[in-house]
Amino acid sequence: MDKAKLVIIGSGPAGYTAAIYAARANLEPVLFEGYLSGVAGGQLMTTTDVENFPGFPEGILGPELMEKCRAQARRFGTQIFAEDVTSVQLKDHPFVVEASGRAIEAYSIIIATGATARRLDVPGAREGELWQRGVTACAVCDGAMPIFRGQELYVIGGGDSAVEEAIFLTKYGSKVYLVHRRGELRASKIMAERAEKHPKIEILWHRELAAVEGTECVEAVVLKNTENGEEERRSAAGVFFAIGHTPNTAFLGGQLETDASGYLVVQPGSARTSIEGVFAAGDVQDHVYRQAITAAGSGCMAALDAERWLSARSAPV
Ligand code: NAP
Repeated sequence: MDKAKLVIIGSGPAGYTAAIYAARANLEPVLFEGYLSGVAGGQLMTTTDVENFPGFPEGILGPELMEKCRAQARRFGTQIFAEDVTSVQLKDHPFVVEASGRAIEAYSIIIATGATARRLDVPGAREGELWQRGVTACAVCDGAMPIFRGQELYVIGGGDSAVEEAIFLTKYGSKVYLVHRRGELRASKIMAERAEKHPKIEILWHRELAAVEGTECVEAVVLKNTENGEEERRSAAGVFFAIGHTPNTAFLGGQLETDASGYLVVQPGSARTSIEGVFAAGDVQDHVYRQAITAAGSGCMAALDAERWLSARSAPV
């Protein structure tokens, strides 16, 4: 079996930044960027302009930013495999990382597999239907598209993200409806108040999305009243899911400590997980900030932590 001082699993800003630092520290990292599990490069690959990443005053396209990070990781010698990691064995050290095309004995591991925005599986909203043709899971990424300008838009969810996205969308839509399945928002008080007071936002309580309709793009939504079951068809140009994210940890088989929502727990101020030699970076361990720059920063922390951990043990690779 091949051996590696460090295996990095994941290829968003966290994974690539970890690779850049680790490669420059001569750890000869092996990085699995994924294949069927999602597009290599992560959530930024489905974003357009990134205007808040420092160093790009004119903005940069999400995929271009990820391509540059990937090239930088390769430049310093990161070995990249376009394969999915299917399982890891963390009980014994060295660990074993099993991917679709190979197995590697790893002295340390950085997990940077990110999180996936949740979507509702309702008629009309699926892949091949109106998904990405008016139905999206990221208002900040897609809200500025011309199809949403001056139109009636629907945000699904009642948490801070839903409120934040609804407020963001008021810049573009004529009216933004917040569709929530209960009679009280989950969002923090201050955010909830902002939504309730906003002249362009109307909250539709006790409703859930039953279907999305349209031919080329979204034309209507069907909402179901969760109290009496009645359905109502309303005209719409956009549907934005904001019902939370799921951290991508299934392949870990529960070997690492997570919080109640499934995010990996790291020791405060570090990237150290519940198993020594295993580190986590990016959205898989962060449901609060979830930014490219914070993911990149935590990737750097993970690489430095891994390097220190390995050098304290003088890993024999
Ligand atoms: P969240 O707090 O888990 O809220 C998810 C919302 O989606 C809930 O209102 C939930 O309804 C609803 N939902 C979930 N599954 C659903 C389904 N199948 N059908 C209909 N509705 C469904 O997620 P989040 O809003 O993404 O926030 C995640 C974390 O990031 C939170 O800790 C949040 O405070 C934080 N955050 C903070 C800010 C900020 O402070 N500016 C901004 C964004 C996020 P129920 O309420 O009925 O469960």
